Parts: sequence; C-alpha cells; structure tokens
Amino acid sequence: MKSSLEDTLLSAIRTIPDYPKPGIMFRDITTLLGNARAFRRAIDELVHPYAGTKIDKVAGIEARGFILGGAIAHQLSSGFIPIRKKGKLPHETVRVAYSLEYGLDEMEMHKDAVAAGEKVILVDDLIATGGTADGAVRLLRQMGADIVAACFIIDLPELGGRRKLEALDVPVRTLIAFE
Ligand code: AMP
Repeated sequence: MKSSLEDTLLSAIRTIPDYPKPGIMFRDITTLLGNARAFRRAIDELVHPYAGTKIDKVAGIEARGFILGGAIAHQLSSGFIPIRKKGKLPHETVRVAYSLEYGLDEMEMHKDAVAAGEKVILVDDLIATGGTADGAVRLLRQMGADIVAACFIIDLPELGGRRKLEALDVPVRTLIAFE
C-alpha cells in the first residue's frame, strides 16, 4: 500500500510520454514545485534523516537539482554547490565526463567549492541510469568531499542508478519510484 506521502508526490508529478524523444516517459516535477504542499513535503522528507547532523554543503546538479538543493541547504543551514554543464562557471573548475543514455557529456564544479573532508549531500530530481550522479560523485571526491548521501525525489529502479551509487559506497535516498 502507498503512504500518503507517496500518493501526494505521485499525484503532483506530471508524466509526459515521448519527451524529449519517443519511448521516454518524462517525469515532470514542475507541477510538484508549483504545488506548495507537495513541494514542502518532498523537501521535509528529503532532509529529515540529516536534521541535527552537520552537513557542510549541499551539491545540486543543474538544473532541477538547484531548486531542490537550494531549499535543502536552507533547511540544513548548509552551503550550496552548483554542479553545472561545462562552460557555465566563471572561475577555475574541475571537470569530468559522464555517460548519458546516448554518448558522453561533461560537468564542472568550481575548484574551491568544497574543502577536503567537508560533508556533502548530493541532490537531483531523479536517478535513472545513475550516470549523471556518478559524474557528480567523482567531481566531489576529486576535491576530497565526504559524500554523506545522494538524494532524489524519483527513482527509476529498472535503470539501476541506485545500485551504481551504492557500489561506490554512496547511500541513496529516494522518495518514490516509477517502474
Ligand atoms: P541518469 O544519468 O540516467 O541517472 O539520468 C538522470 C538525469 O537525467 C537527471 O538529471 C534527470 O533530471 C534526467 N532524467 C533522466 N530520465 C528522466 C525522465 N524519465 N524524466 C525526467 N528526467 C529524467
């Protein structure tokens, strides 16, 4: 049976079939963000295991991870780190290639965004294959971050992202799944 939290979140997310290409069921969280109750419940639920824990930084993956990560950082009184597509950050960066469904892309973070040993939570809206989050984990670890967890609203379990991160010793927290 689904909890009231799962019902609230599932009914607040819009699914767009065949976007951005045929065969993809796009899980659109803009409707969740526009629903004050669902947005608050999602953020509260993502942060509650870490309440009272010292989290130095929340790292958000462009672009939806910025919205969720900013709200989470505020709740935890942490700093925020933007992880961006290449070429968008103005200062010295570290860069990694990461795998997309078809091909590769690159993401970057400012070199001085995190200090060695800082405790970091990684945030995005959804984990599918885990390729994007895996790239972000590699960037953060390159600078010595201690990744406490990776948090997502949505898991697509069939695509194996959770297992990929757990194999890297990154605890994964997700709130709902679409089969
Ligand atoms: P992956 O790297 O395969 O785990 O894909 C995760 C990234 O792609 C996240 O930044 C998601 O926002 C986006 N993404 C992948 N699949 C979907 C989907 N079905 N609906 C919405 N966003 C998706």
